Amino acid sequence: MNKIYKVFPGGNHKVLTLSYDDGKLEDRRLVSILNKYGIKCTFNLNSSQQENTGTHIPPEEWPELYAGHEVAVHTSTHPTLARCPENEIVYEILSNRIELEQIMGYPVRGMAFPNGSCDDRCCRIAADLGMRYARIAADKYAAVQSAETYAKDAEGPMLLGDETGFDMPSDYMRWLPTCHHNHHLIDFGQKFLNLNKPQYLYMMYVWGHSFEFERNNNWSVIEDFCKLVGGRDDIWYATNIEIVDYNYVFDSLQFAADNSFVYNPCAAPAWLKVNDDYVVVKGGETVHF
Ligand SMILES: [Zn+2]
Repeated sequence: MNKIYKVFPGGNHKVLTLSYDDGKLEDRRLVSILNKYGIKCTFNLNSSQQENTGTHIPPEEWPELYAGHEVAVHTSTHPTLARCPENEIVYEILSNRIELEQIMGYPVRGMAFPNGSCDDRCCRIAADLGMRYARIAADKYAAVQSAETYAKDAEGPMLLGDETGFDMPSDYMRWLPTCHHNHHLIDFGQKFLNLNKPQYLYMMYVWGHSFEFERNNNWSVIEDFCKLVGGRDDIWYATNIEIVDYNYVFDSLQFAADNSFVYNPCAAPAWLKVNDDYVVVKGGETVHF
């Protein structure tokens, strides 16, 4: 019987994605760095704050600036959702979604919770409003730091296992990033490059706010990171929704019971590793192995 594994587009088993919030002016510089190295990012934007303190990217600039990246929901006015009544949660997400879609011209189906605030109720409402993923403002690196290891924080992620933080999400409605860019980003990037067990899928997920680079005068962190991990043919560079959508395509594949062929009922292609070969199954095709 054929041995079949899921792989990412291009036959890769590693994916890198980024998620940056609030849509402030510093996004211009961040986008130019990401574009230089072919790295994809999801930008989570508010809508009603945009008219304007002069600190946010004006909406008329969004389609061109964020082209090739993803624009996603960050609620209309950036409230702490877990403190809000349900009708307000609904309004904040839905009005933001509608406004973003009118500006960007594509369905907006993902979000990052503002102020890191969510609970079961927020996740349920977000899903009901068509959100297919929701990022929380924490990360795996911080989550695994015990009080003891946190005291040694300066030593960085070497305290963690080599593969810690790179597993695929178990719950996309509580999508937990690998690290904030201030949490040893370069060290995590180097570890990510070193991951080489093809029997696993690996994800690196970085989050933050572009204004933090300006405030902390550390643009070099993201420049060095992109230089390190960008432009490689063994990493799939994807926005958040591209990962979710690819999972959908792959999970929709219809395999023969004996693994001798597969049918792809979706429009988008799927990639498989069949024994030692990589196989692309285009939309609508049946492929025999
Ligand atoms: Zn925010």
